[in-house]
Formats: sequence, C-alpha cells, structure tokens
Amino acid sequence: MKTFCTVLFVSLLSLGSSAFGQRLADLSPPVMDYVSVAEPVFAITSVTVIDGTGSPAQPGQTVVVQNDMISAVGDDGSVSIPEGAFVIDGSGHTLIPGMVGLHNHTFYMTSKRSIQLNYTAPRLYLASGVTTIRTTGSNAPYAEINLHSAIQNGDVPGPYIYATGPYMTGGSGMSSMTRLDGPEDARRLVKYWAEEGVTWFKAYTQISREELAAAIDEAHKNGVKVTAHLCSVTYQEAVAMGIDNLEHGLFANTDYADNKVADECPAGFRTTMASLDLASDEVQSTYQAMIDNDVAMTSTLAVYEMYVPDRPPLEQRVLDAMSEEVRGEYLVRREQIAREGENAPFSEALFRKAQEYEYEFYRAGGLLAAGVDPTGYGGALPGYGDQRNYELLLEAGFTPEEVVQIMTLNGARVLGIDGKVGRVQSGMVADMVLINGDIVNEPATIRNVVTVFRNGVGYDSKSLIDSVNGEVGVR
Ligand SMILES: [Zn+2]
Repeated sequence: MKTFCTVLFVSLLSLGSSAFGQRLADLSPPVMDYVSVAEPVFAITSVTVIDGTGSPAQPGQTVVVQNDMISAVGDDGSVSIPEGAFVIDGSGHTLIPGMVGLHNHTFYMTSKRSIQLNYTAPRLYLASGVTTIRTTGSNAPYAEINLHSAIQNGDVPGPYIYATGPYMTGGSGMSSMTRLDGPEDARRLVKYWAEEGVTWFKAYTQISREELAAAIDEAHKNGVKVTAHLCSVTYQEAVAMGIDNLEHGLFANTDYADNKVADECPAGFRTTMASLDLASDEVQSTYQAMIDNDVAMTSTLAVYEMYVPDRPPLEQRVLDAMSEEVRGEYLVRREQIAREGENAPFSEALFRKAQEYEYEFYRAGGLLAAGVDPTGYGGALPGYGDQRNYELLLEAGFTPEEVVQIMTLNGARVLGIDGKVGRVQSGMVADMVLINGDIVNEPATIRNVVTVFRNGVGYDSKSLIDSVNGEVGVR
C-alpha cells in the first residue's frame, strides 16, 4: 500500500495550512457538478449562528469565509465584508458547524443484508451536513481507506474519513469480523492495519479482557486509538485498560448486570435496565471512571430507536433513498416490531432510560459525542440518522445548543481535531451547514439542509440526495 501511504503523507502535510485537503482546484468535474458555492471569498449575512461551543444561538450574524477558513463572525453591520465577496442571504436560516459523526459506517445493514455503500454513504453524509466521519468498525478496511483517498483527491464527493480497522471480536463473534485467537493475535492485527493507514479500531461484543488490553496497548504504541461496542468486557474494565471511547451508552454497558461472568456476555443484561437508578453509586462510578480517564461516550440513539415499537416517525425521504427491495424488507421488519408491542426488542422505558443515562453523563462532566450507526434493520440512514439524533438528544433533555455541540465540537474533540473544526468561529476551517429554518424552535427543520460547506466549498444538498435516491442498499 505504498501509494496510499504517499497520498496520506502528502495530505497530512497540507494540514498545516488548512485542515482536510480537497481544495477547489483539486475537485474533478463529477464532483464540481454538486458544488453550488465555489467563490473563494464569500459572506453569509443575517443568519442565526449556533457556533458549536454550547453558547446560545445568535440571530443576525455575518460570517465571512476566505479561501477555506472562517475569517470573521459577528453581528450584521459590525463585520466588514471584503470587496467583491459573494454574498449569501442567510435570513430565515441557521448555520451550524459541520457535523462530526463518530459512529458512521460506510456499510449498511438491513434484516437480510450487509453491504458496502461506497457510493451512497459519502454522498448522504455530506448532503446531510456531516463533514467528518469516523467509521467505527469496518467490514472492508481497504474500501474505506481507498474511499478516503478518492474523496481527498477530489474524485468523489464526501466527508473527511477516519477509517477503522476490521472489527475485533472473540471466537463466537459475527462472521464478518476478525475472531481473535488470544492477545498476540490482537497485537498482530492492530500493527498490520495501523501500518496500512487506519486511525481507529473497534472492539466488539465477544472480545476477551486479555485481547482487548493487548489491542489497546498495541494501538497506543502505534499512535492510533480504540473504541468498542462491549458486552463480554464491562465499561469499568475497559476504562481501566486505557480505552479511548465507548459506543452506544447504556445499551452496551454490562457494568450493572448481576449475572456477569468475566469474559462472557451476560444473557438478558438489558432486561432490568429500565429501572436502573442513575443516582446510584454503581452508575456514578462508571461516569467518574470515564471522566477521570478521558473516555468519551458515543450516543447512537437513532439506531436503537428502530427497535422500539412505532419509532421513529416514518419519513418519505428515507423510503425514497432505499432501493425497492430494501424498502420492502425495512417496512416488513418495522411492522413486526410494532406488532410485538411489549415483547419488542426494546421498550419505550428502556429507550428513555438510555437517553437519561447520556444526559446525566454529560451533566456530570463527561464528553458525549454522537453518530448514526446505519445498521440494525436499515432505518437509520447515513446522514439522515445523524439528523434524527438531533431530535432524540433534544428529547433526552439537552438544549439545542448543547445538542449541536455534542454533534460537532465534541466529536472533533474525540478525534483530536477541535482546533480546526467543530466551531463556527474565526480561524476555524470553513466546515459549516446552512439550514433553511430555525432549528431551535422547529427542530424538524434540521432536515432542510441547503448548502454544506466542506473546506470552504459549498455543496448543494439536494443534488447530492437526488444522485442517490433508490440506491441505498445497492451501492
Ligand atoms: Zn456500529
């Protein structure tokens, strides 16, 4: 993989001047088809800015971009617009930082299939306002690494990709994953893929403590990081090993299972979760361990919501994006879950508890970020599911500004790029999302993305979506 390493090296060098490459001059004609703002100097006026830091939404703002950087943000009239700048009237619109999706696979699952989406996923992410993704578990690492290169080279539209190594699980784990055979096996795998260019690893439910500890140690020696969807290893155990991030909040946490046996996934460990006391010592000590050791939590509410009867609201645009067969499978499974009622995989009460669990973690001082996880049985699509997370985190009790922070700046913090992206502030890379509507008072308008700026280049959301409709689940 010499070619990739060279490309990566060159693109890393260019990080010095801006962030993530893919400059206008590098964009190929097929990518230019989706570009609606190509002017190197532009201003958005009269727009409501939610800047990503958690501070209150500011109406009547002017944001100036020069080349690929935000050069000024302030009240209309107080910010001078450079001579000759292209001006976009932002009245009636909200501007937020580009989303940083931390559980954003490039593959997709339904009840009957699992397929790589190298064509539709990057387009849907970008169209929805997700400008950076960490794939957090890969079924095809070379497909991801090469997709990343293709995007950076300007050959295809998409977000900046932090590629992940193959899933690491134990002997009885899923067939698409690496079934580790002891700690040395874990080290061998981590070393190989770190050299190939992945930046994160994802451990999965059946991994042993010994294997996970070895994987984390080897990853850190190689300058890369580890996150996990756990079960056989508890949160507290993984934190003690030095893990960097934990996925899915309460849903994958076996700290509170009475029947927990070391290195085994306890049967039915979620059954009593709905009545978990979040003020209890056991919960508070998980929070404290994560906070003391800088371990972030990734919220993935959109994928779990699918398993709760009559959730989420059925969206026509989701059905439109799916291929015909996939749409059929999705609707059948959704119907089944609705019929199961109280016997459905997740109850409304458990889902609410998981939302509260994330809310209290954040309130205690924990670093909470978010991602879509386009798996389950196919209802949380790349990008669309990230937008749904906005509503689900509001439902959890966060303010709109806090949710924007969780979905933007906090993701950037986990990836260590918060000095470059995640905020609409002067000196940051111009990764921003222009939304037609007031997402504070009308949350559903988060779906009305007009233009997504990545590295100062504006992409037309609608044309990106038009290019994938009917194709999700196929390519
Ligand atoms: Zn996942």
